[in-house]
Amino acid sequence: MRYSAFSIVKNALTGNVNWKPAWRQPEPKPFYDVIIVGGGGHGLATAYYLAKEFGLKNIAVLEKGYLGSGNVGRNTTIVRSNYMLPGNEPFYEFSMKLWERMEQDLNYNAMLSQRGIINLYHNDGQRDAYIRRGNAMWMEGVAAELLDRAALKKMLPFLNFAHARFPIMGGLLQKRGGTARHDAVAWGYARAADRLGVDLIQNCEVTGIRRENGVVTGVETSRGFIGCGKLGLAAAGNTSRVGQMADLKLPIESHVLQAFVTEGLKPAIDHVITYGAGHFYISQSDKGGLVFGAEIDGYNSYAQRGNLATVEHVMEEGVTMIPGLSRVRVLRSWGGVMDMSMDGSPIISHTPIDNLYLNCGWCYGGFKATPASGFCFAHLIAKNETHPVARFLRLDRFERGYPIDEHGAGPQPNLH
Ligand SMILES: Cc1cc2nc3c(=O)[nH]c(=O)nc-3n(C[C@H](O)[C@H](O)[C@H](O)COP(=O)(O)OP(=O)(O)OC[C@H]3O[C@@H](n4cnc5c(N)ncnc54)[C@H](O)[C@@H]3O)c2cc1C
Repeated sequence: MRYSAFSIVKNALTGNVNWKPAWRQPEPKPFYDVIIVGGGGHGLATAYYLAKEFGLKNIAVLEKGYLGSGNVGRNTTIVRSNYMLPGNEPFYEFSMKLWERMEQDLNYNAMLSQRGIINLYHNDGQRDAYIRRGNAMWMEGVAAELLDRAALKKMLPFLNFAHARFPIMGGLLQKRGGTARHDAVAWGYARAADRLGVDLIQNCEVTGIRRENGVVTGVETSRGFIGCGKLGLAAAGNTSRVGQMADLKLPIESHVLQAFVTEGLKPAIDHVITYGAGHFYISQSDKGGLVFGAEIDGYNSYAQRGNLATVEHVMEEGVTMIPGLSRVRVLRSWGGVMDMSMDGSPIISHTPIDNLYLNCGWCYGGFKATPASGFCFAHLIAKNETHPVARFLRLDRFERGYPIDEHGAGPQPNLH
């Protein structure tokens, strides 16, 4: 059923009993041309574009829990394309353009809100780095604006301009950045993929990868063996575990990232704001809750919960930036497992194993990448060829010595 104003009115007048489930619950078939492991945003988007853009028909997404139970439903929903390096900026801008037409494309309200993202700077060196980043964005045709302290004070009067330990001097604004409703993105891709015939199989954990003569032939799952022509991994925080099933040792560490939401407030913060003297970032949801987060927990973990020391640290950063936050009550916090790569940039790639393709390394930032990641991964799997905007994101960059070190943090995932 197509969603439209007409279908809403029609269903309202008939008691809302005729809505169909958004996707089917198929039994797994013995064989698929392509299997994607992971029913998060990236896996679902990949399946959708495989069917829509590349005309493949016999596709399944295998998800160990329920669709959207991973990071796609746990993130702080920030979308942006304000990167500096040529390995990243064209890719994220491609993603932004896909975001801008996603709702029409999927016939689903993803609640994209291009409210603008502002990265604060606190010293001259950081300002110069943002000028450089802004110029790099302009060179890729992406608008950026440097704001000085006076402009910022007018736009965001609630920031701590008076007594901050790291005084706020200004910010870099990308007006097209903003937020989107994370669950809706998973549901929108799931529904659209299902309509194109993709089998979305939930409660189906991949427990092994079968290879014959070095070529992947299928996966062992909690629902039995399923054969496949090609296998794509989009398992985010569990990538290294799934990779191990094919003896792939990957440059990925898993860490927990926590997020928080407060009680609902009247509209107060109408941008996404990030703190330059730490990792803190904040926005306000359409329901009024302030949604925020900061650093990853410093140790490796596959548990979807973090520890209190990081909670305290995040709160301190938040209150330093916005003193009024100390009066607001936090309602909920949660964690997700991040696939942190060794240069802080993602991997969309062939692997050394025939018919096995890899999508991972999204660190803090994979939500904004969802459409481009799905598109480029589908391109790679369907054509066996890297999409031009993802050409720097190959796995072999680590072997060849070409990391994309956007943050200049080196191979230290806990600093990215
Ligand atoms: C707290 C938090 C805040 C974040 N904030 C932002 C943000 O503001 N902006 C941004 O751009 N990014 C953000 N991110 C990052 C972003 O959410 C992730 O990078 C992105 O969602 C990862 O891709 P995905 O959606 O496919 O992952 P997931 O949704 O995690 O999908 C992977 C799926 O694979 C499944 N899986 C794993 N192992 C198996 C198996 N063996 N068999 C079958 N299925 C399996 C999992 O159950 C999971 O559903 C944040 C992440 C977190 C945790």
